Amino acid sequence: MTMTTTNGVNGTHGPAPTSGAAKLKANRAKAIVDAAYAGKYAIPAVCCYNLEAVLATVRAAEAKRSPALIQLFPWSIEFADGLLLHAAAEAADKATVPIGVHMDHAQSPEVIRRSADLGGYDGIMVDMSHYDKKDNMRLSRELVEYCNARGIITECEPGRINGSEDGIADTEGMEEILTTPEQAEEFVALGIDWLAPAFGNVHGPYGPKGPLLDFPRLERIHKQVGDRVRLVLHGAHEDYFGEDLLRKCISYGMAKVNINGPVAAAWLKVQGELTGKVPITKIIEEQTNAMQAVVEYHMDWLMSTGKA
Ligand SMILES: [Zn+2]
Repeated sequence: MTMTTTNGVNGTHGPAPTSGAAKLKANRAKAIVDAAYAGKYAIPAVCCYNLEAVLATVRAAEAKRSPALIQLFPWSIEFADGLLLHAAAEAADKATVPIGVHMDHAQSPEVIRRSADLGGYDGIMVDMSHYDKKDNMRLSRELVEYCNARGIITECEPGRINGSEDGIADTEGMEEILTTPEQAEEFVALGIDWLAPAFGNVHGPYGPKGPLLDFPRLERIHKQVGDRVRLVLHGAHEDYFGEDLLRKCISYGMAKVNINGPVAAAWLKVQGELTGKVPITKIIEEQTNAMQAVVEYHMDWLMSTGKA
């Protein structure tokens, strides 16, 4: 029997649960987002491309006494197998506040099965939204089961959140599909834990009018799913989503908000400013500090500060 000892709050003390069902019950990512929903705040889910971003997320969480999620794209698995994933899982285990590790936008059955088998993920976004509806439902059902059997919770996207993000397929050319309450219900029936509705939110830049969000639709979706699943927000770049709009989304039930672009931009900015001027170790430290600062003010906006 495996015994895990750790000083962090996230590790398993005593015998680790062995069955998928027992692991699901003990799932830390689920617990973190459930607590946010109950407490009417949201968890920052920070997209990390390297070890510095993982460190920045954990350091921000510890500094702000906030729970957090580390998110990795399938790109990290394709690029470096499980290396960054396992580093992220270790960082989460050792943290003094609740941290989970989640896969964002996994868009092929192969990468989902491979990722689930690697161990280290608490959650995986099963994003089959680029398939037609029938295949989307069929594949999602199959993959949700596969993840759950390994103690991993799942997130799905009924409808389609358009636009592109680094590391995921560009859906810009595809027709925008807003989520309906009926669709949301079909996905809830698959046994998912988190639902990412499309209600006018897009990845990357919005048009000149900014986000045109359909809040009545979001309200209908929330009413339909009730508290059976948690709603999660994609496409909330800080250029368009400040404190006020984020809090409005939280008041409509959003309990997890993905943060991607601004963190990566902070890393790149420091790289540009310091390259050739200071030792590389200094650049890495400053990049980490800059990303930590971005995560920290998002924690304030999302009201997760002090909730660990
Ligand atoms: Zn997304």
